[in-house]
Amino acid sequence: MIDIDKIRSDFPILTQKINGNNLVYLDNSATTHKPQQVIDSIVDFYSSMNCNVHRGVHYLGEQASIAYESVREKVKDFIKAKKSKEIVFTSGTTESINLIANSFGRSFINKGDEIIITEMEHHSNIVPWQILCENKGAKLKIIPINNNGTLMIDKLNSLITDRTKLISLTYVSNVLGTITPVKDVIKTAHSKDIPVLIDAAQAVQHIPIDVQNLDCDFFVFSGHKIYAETGVGVLYAKEKWLEAMPPHKYGGGMISKVSFKKTSFAEVPFKFEAGTGNISAVISLGKAIEYLNDIGIKEIQKHEDELMRYTFDKLSTLDGITIYGNAPKRCGIISFNLDNIHHYDAVMILDKMGIAVRSGTHCAEPVMSHYGINGSIRVSFAIYNSKEDIDGLIYGLKKVQEMHQ
Ligand code: PLP
Repeated sequence: MIDIDKIRSDFPILTQKINGNNLVYLDNSATTHKPQQVIDSIVDFYSSMNCNVHRGVHYLGEQASIAYESVREKVKDFIKAKKSKEIVFTSGTTESINLIANSFGRSFINKGDEIIITEMEHHSNIVPWQILCENKGAKLKIIPINNNGTLMIDKLNSLITDRTKLISLTYVSNVLGTITPVKDVIKTAHSKDIPVLIDAAQAVQHIPIDVQNLDCDFFVFSGHKIYAETGVGVLYAKEKWLEAMPPHKYGGGMISKVSFKKTSFAEVPFKFEAGTGNISAVISLGKAIEYLNDIGIKEIQKHEDELMRYTFDKLSTLDGITIYGNAPKRCGIISFNLDNIHHYDAVMILDKMGIAVRSGTHCAEPVMSHYGINGSIRVSFAIYNSKEDIDGLIYGLKKVQEMHQ
């Protein structure tokens, strides 16, 4: 069992009062707060080793490079990749997906080809493919969802043709909390030689990951959603793809030799890391992974599952509430609306009570269209959330309803 009081004491922001109330932070899908250990790692980096990496041979440069590369190893172990060279540092999930669209897309997608995504994607896993398809004369196809928020996986076979070049889907829906059957999708896709990209922005912080077992071709996530600083993300790709794909950005750090006649590129993963990266954020990602490993991702999953069940029980005591999605396999993300109350108004009132939840479309407008709504209230959990947070939320929601009677 996790020690929730100990964990909460690691997160200094949680001691803040908002409008005179204890902070109840339930917007963790947007971003997570940072434990003191992660905050210290950023301060330590700038206090003791600030330097560009892979360049200086002086002491600081070497220390910074060693620290930076040790994070690549940690990420490799965290997601159980085969080799650390399969880990590319990016600025986040969005950049990782754009990298694949611009690089893989440029080389392997042609006129008449097809890419398959799902109806429950975040805009970051829609728009890059839409634009790529527009530019290339390719076609974007969509796996629809059921009303309970599960994927209509039985439609996949009929969507796949001999022109299908990529399937890209989320592991966990950032609106519905659904855990998608990525392994089944990958198996079906691979039986037809189609590579698969997994958007794990809402998965790595909640579910143990093994990319070799999943056998996915690409796997992406953001540091800031797993307790690290903003501005760092990960693209995992099988080595064969990184070797086959061209760089997507050009400049320093990604070359092996430059002359005015010809430039040759650095080896993977460096050919995808042009320019100076967000070094302190990478260091913070290493610390965040250490922090998660110390608690244990399975323990985290247990804790968050219990919170989710508790939340569902409590929400079911409210009248006039519509919850979207009820997938049998899901994570701690719940979207709902209160009858006759705009989600924005509800969230504004909750904020006055120190309760931070999200309202809006959650960057997933097709999901909103599916349910015929213009937005919802979304609560999402992290390791530091407690049952008291949920009690606070329920109290707040009841107050919102009372004010609208
Ligand atoms: N994909 C999913 C499923 C997300 O939930 C998010 C952010 O909420 C993103 C992609 C984009 O992440 P980022 O803004 O960190 O690039």
